[in-house]
Amino acid sequence: MTATISTFALADTAAFLEEKSPEEILHWATSRFSPKLAMATAMGAEGCCLVAMLAKIGRPVRIFNLDTDYQFGETMDTKKRLEEKYGIPIETVRAARTKAEIETEFGPDLWKRDTELCCRIRKVEPLRETVKGSDAWISAIRRDQTPDRAQSAIVEWDERFELVKVNPLLNWTWKNVWSYIHTNDVPYNPLHDQGYPSIGCWPCTKRVAEGADPRSGRWSGEKKECGLHSR
Ligand code: SF4
Repeated sequence: MTATISTFALADTAAFLEEKSPEEILHWATSRFSPKLAMATAMGAEGCCLVAMLAKIGRPVRIFNLDTDYQFGETMDTKKRLEEKYGIPIETVRAARTKAEIETEFGPDLWKRDTELCCRIRKVEPLRETVKGSDAWISAIRRDQTPDRAQSAIVEWDERFELVKVNPLLNWTWKNVWSYIHTNDVPYNPLHDQGYPSIGCWPCTKRVAEGADPRSGRWSGEKKECGLHSR
C-alpha cells in the first residue's frame, strides 16, 4: 500500500459505507481518490448506472473499457451512446499484443482451448497496466452475483492489482439496477432485452433461460470469473 493509503482505515470505512447508497459511496470515493481513480466497464447494466452517477458527480475518473477483440457490436454501440449522453470519454484499452500476435503465439481461438490464459492476456494484464498510477478503482460487482463477490466489502484492498477497490453496487440487486436505468433513462446494452443478463465476449457469452443463474451463460458455466474479481 502507498504511505497515504496504509494509514487509511479501510475496514472502518467499509463499515461506515455499508449502509450508504451507491451515489454516496461514489461521492466518498471521488472526493477521496479523484483524479487517481479508475473504473473498468464492459458496458453491462451495472456499469452503465455507475457511468451515469459519475457524470452527475462530475469529478475526474479514468473510465475505460477493455477491448478484448471479441466484444459484441451492441457493446461498442452502448459505449458510444453513454459517451454522447453524458459527455464523458470512455477510454478503450487493449492487450499489449495484437490479435494477430496472440494467434501467432498461441494459435487461433485461444478462448476455445484456454479461457484462463485468454482472459489473463486480454483482461487481467491490460487492467493491471491501466490502473498503475491510480490509487483506487471502481467496479460494478454485486454481492448476489457469485460466491467470490459475496465476500467483498464496499471498499477493500485489492491484492491482485495493488490498489483500493471500491464496489458501490455491492448491496444492489438486479431489480435495483433496472429501476435506476428506467428512472434515469440510462443507455444500456440492448442484448439485455434478448436473454443476456451478463454480457462479456461473444464467444464466451450465451443466452440464459428465464429463472436460470444469470451468470450461467458466461463460459458455458465452466467458470464464474474472468480473473478481475477473483479472490
Ligand atoms: S471472455 Fe472469452 S474471449 Fe474474452 S478474454 Fe476471456 S476467454 Fe477470451
